[in-house]
Amino acid sequence: MKIYQFPKGGLELEDLTVPPVQASRIAYLPTLALIPLIQHPGAEAVPLVEAGSQVREGMLIGRGYGLGSANIHASIPGTVVKIVSWKLADGRSTKGFLIRLEGSFDKLGKKKENFIWQGLSGFDLQRILSEKGIVEMEEPGRPFIEIIRDAANQSKTVSLVVRMIFDDPWLVADYVLSLERLDEILIGASIAAKAASATHIVFAVSNQEMELAERIRIRSVELGIQIKLIVTGSRYPQRNRRELETVLKSYQKNENIDLGSWCICGPATLAAVFDAVVQNKPILERYVAVGGGSIKHPQVLRVRIGTRIGDVISQCGGFLVQPKKIATGSPLKGMAVQDLDEPVTKTTIAVVALTEDQIGGEIIHDCTNCGECRSVCPVGLDPEYLFKLALLERDAEALAHRANSCHGCGCCEVVCPSRLPLSSTIRVSIKRGKK
Ligand code: SF4
Ligand code: SF4
Repeated sequence: MKIYQFPKGGLELEDLTVPPVQASRIAYLPTLALIPLIQHPGAEAVPLVEAGSQVREGMLIGRGYGLGSANIHASIPGTVVKIVSWKLADGRSTKGFLIRLEGSFDKLGKKKENFIWQGLSGFDLQRILSEKGIVEMEEPGRPFIEIIRDAANQSKTVSLVVRMIFDDPWLVADYVLSLERLDEILIGASIAAKAASATHIVFAVSNQEMELAERIRIRSVELGIQIKLIVTGSRYPQRNRRELETVLKSYQKNENIDLGSWCICGPATLAAVFDAVVQNKPILERYVAVGGGSIKHPQVLRVRIGTRIGDVISQCGGFLVQPKKIATGSPLKGMAVQDLDEPVTKTTIAVVALTEDQIGGEIIHDCTNCGECRSVCPVGLDPEYLFKLALLERDAEALAHRANSCHGCGCCEVVCPSRLPLSSTIRVSIKRGKK
């Protein structure tokens, strides 16, 4: 069996404070849900309801506007108590609806719809995905329809590539989802492939997940869905687009096949595609890994969009010790949250409460020139040098030394014994340099 992997750098990551791989639990329904009008990289969705409006579960409450923007739906039925404004963890300002839970559910506990989608055209499917606000279910939450169109614009041949690579332990929620909703993911892949006019469906699975790979193979045959399986390495950041493209190129060469352009997505997105098209359901919940050294009972929860992070943590037994930092997403790439009222959104893969030990203290030392950062950089950059240039604001020089190829994987920061904020500082320098 050939294992396709990127050639240099990267890390085998492990974290004993991630939730164990066990069946997911349904999180308590929020009595108050805060639904942000930005859950995507583009402009804020245009509000369609106002304070005092009654909303149904799954009702369209915000209309996506322009590139990178997506429709927003109510995750619970109830009354819009008020419209609030606040700053998101990434610094952008947004408005959101505070909805008080009232009335009956249209979806929860009801017989599931089972729409026969095979007769629909690719165009019809794209329209449904757009209407239901389907985005890539991880940061930055790009509308799926735009990912499809980009791939179609690049080449006449398109392949749908499903990344079932869990190189970061904090992707455990998507791993559990993959085990629990594999059939829906496979059917979702079929639907997405039709929407994208893709000629191939490729499942990229890491060599650490061979049991899952075998299940994918068996179920795809049983469901009559033709797929190609690529076994990749498991070193972080194998799942990253750039590293994934490296293995796709070498797979094409080895197998003498033309995959054309790639429409890349994850399992949570395809489960959402299935829900949208087959069950007429927008994104109402997300699988979220709740853990970190401060959490009493780390676990994977299925959380309604708009649920307070504080409520999610309470359901996991609360804090064992006071956290030093709370973040949404993986500690490597996630964003620190300022308070526990921050809501779970479509792209919240994890809620992580880190202890002081996990953060490793805040004392930063001088560079010892150990070279560790250079050895793990998958792009072959010199993070230490770029960091120094960034501190001096010599951004044009940093760009001339390929700073622009840094994709922010964070490997350099993880290994730096001096705890220097290499990756984040380089990113700032790139931004400044491009202005
Ligand atoms: S964050 Fe950038 S510089 Fe650091 S290892 Fe990753 S690609 Fe290299
Ligand atoms: S890992 Fe840290 S200490 Fe070592 S060379 Fe890189 S920046 Fe310097």
